[in-house]
Amino acid sequence: MAGAAHDDDLDAILALTPDQRVERAVQKLPTLSAQDVPLQDSCPICLLPFPSIISGENVEPESPGELVGVTKLQGCGHVFCRLECVTGPLSSSAAH
Ligand SMILES: [Zn+2]
Repeated sequence: MAGAAHDDDLDAILALTPDQRVERAVQKLPTLSAQDVPLQDSCPICLLPFPSIISGENVEPESPGELVGVTKLQGCGHVFCRLECVTGPLSSSAAH
């Protein structure tokens, strides 16, 4: 159980703008370590192979460092890179 902090956490989320909620949700996603990533696979959105995402060779220099890597969505278990494949669709839908 998460304990008493959970209700405070919910209040904090409800006070956020949609953009802030997306940012918070993305920041809470885990970054998988190399041994947890299916290295023979690629991101289903941008089609970059996971090994190259982990190594950072396709990462633009201006990308925020904390969004580099591969993450796994809890619940559905889908694995994505943490770049615009996670933040892009969520951010653009929240902006409209
Ligand atoms: Zn991707």
